[in-house]
Amino acid sequence: MGLPRRQTGDHAAIAAARDLLGPAGVIDAPADMARYLVDWAGDTPGSALAVLRPASVAEVQAAIRLCRIHHLGVVPQGGNTGLVGGGFGALAQAPIILSLERMNRVRAIDPAGYSICADAGCTLQHIKDTAEAADRLFPLALGAQGSCQIGGNAATNAGGINVLRYGMARDLILGLEVVLPDGEVWNGMTGLRKDNRGYDLKQLFIGAEGTLGVITGVELKLFPLPRRTETAYVGLRSFADAMQLFARARGVCSDLLTGFEVIGAECLPSARLINPGLVTPVDEKAPVHVILECASSEAIDLAALVETLLQQSLESGLILDAVMARSGSQARAFWAIREGLVEGQVRRGYHVRTDLSVRLGDIPRLVDSARAFVAANHPAWLPQAYGHAGDGNIHFNVLPPAGLDEDAARKEGRDITDGLYAVVGGFGGSISAEHGVGRSRRDVIWTGLSPVHRLLVAAIKSAFDPEGLMNPGCLLPPNEEFP
Ligand SMILES: Cc1cc2nc3c(=O)[nH]c(=O)nc-3n(C[C@H](O)[C@H](O)[C@H](O)COP(=O)(O)OP(=O)(O)OC[C@H]3O[C@@H](n4cnc5c(N)ncnc54)[C@H](O)[C@@H]3O)c2cc1C
Repeated sequence: MGLPRRQTGDHAAIAAARDLLGPAGVIDAPADMARYLVDWAGDTPGSALAVLRPASVAEVQAAIRLCRIHHLGVVPQGGNTGLVGGGFGALAQAPIILSLERMNRVRAIDPAGYSICADAGCTLQHIKDTAEAADRLFPLALGAQGSCQIGGNAATNAGGINVLRYGMARDLILGLEVVLPDGEVWNGMTGLRKDNRGYDLKQLFIGAEGTLGVITGVELKLFPLPRRTETAYVGLRSFADAMQLFARARGVCSDLLTGFEVIGAECLPSARLINPGLVTPVDEKAPVHVILECASSEAIDLAALVETLLQQSLESGLILDAVMARSGSQARAFWAIREGLVEGQVRRGYHVRTDLSVRLGDIPRLVDSARAFVAANHPAWLPQAYGHAGDGNIHFNVLPPAGLDEDAARKEGRDITDGLYAVVGGFGGSISAEHGVGRSRRDVIWTGLSPVHRLLVAAIKSAFDPEGLMNPGCLLPPNEEFP
């Protein structure tokens, strides 16, 4: 697959890499490479010839040029929290992993200009903390923020819980610096908020999942740090009611609404695996739970606004119950339920994971149809419906029955995944709302694209990376399989 390989040159390539990057810059002992070759969920092991860890842009250039000479595919890797197998190669490919973890410096912050420049290997949490120390907000927020890197966020166009108000990574990026497959640097760190000089090249690298180049630097938009935050936990009868509440909240709170997460009550046992003492803020039997968050400056009476929304919704019978967090720690406890249910599913082991998006109005029917499909065809499996519903994004996961052998579960899981993809296809939706394509979703997404779309994607790949050096097998088929 991908590049022609010169097995005999592999040892020479690794020795040359040591000369270029120093001993700390190369890992090739299998035990030391192991942590780079398995993802957060632990269910898709990969392999690599070596892990290269450059410490500067010049070292990334040197590493890329070396791999090109030796015809070795390069897989950029950030925090390795992507859930679609994009950050490491499948067994047959044995490529070079290029980890950005040593490039972890914030280069500059400009509070007055509301921007920050950083190496791509900074964790998202490091960026957020640096911004906050300067009284600014970097709003991208997701469960993996302590580990994922800002370069990985750019490469996957990450979403998360604040997309509603601030957009996805794409909307937050002012500029990028990228090492191209020929080793040249494209410097797009202009810091400009308006720039209509033709094609906006940075947009091509955002969401490209490392297939067009290695992102080495990022310039990001910052925002005023909110002075007031109100978080509410709401119990409702159905996803349909939840989406009505969302429409009402948008109207009452306007752009102050930052988060709207929906949790089907069937997910709570998963959250309880992480926190056995979990007591939900509203009656656990409410079929649907919502975490709603608003943020504003000091001048706005945010509590009154959210109280009005909840009061009106209670009086009209739209919601069953609601609790507003009285403190930051209570708000964090609400969010811990959302984070715990994801971790709890992983603790259960293999399960079907999806990342679906549809038009907002279609969410209730999507969830109903997906549940009906599972109940009719795989009645022993347990659906878990939750997600960033305010963005039209639902994670409809399905847990195998306890005790089912893993091989059997994986086999049946493939049928369930296909069935769920057919369900979302019926709504004209996407099977990758925010997690990307990687290797695990490549074939199903690639074959689902129109011929014209495939040709355009292949033309972009060939223009940037004619030899297929970058992340072979991720996002699109290797060069020789292009249409
Ligand atoms: C608990 C949990 C919660 C999550 N929640 C969300 C969520 O709410 N929203 C969401 O969008 N995602 C979520 N994710 C998925 C994941 O965190 C994001 O996709 C994240 O952006 C990946 O960043 P990373 O640094 O870990 O990238 P990696 O996993 O290392 O890599 C992902 C892809 O980007 C490429 N890449 C990485 N760094 C670079 C670089 N510097 N240059 C070029 N290409 C690069 C890799 O080759 C790969 O294709 C979650 C994951 C977990 C484990």
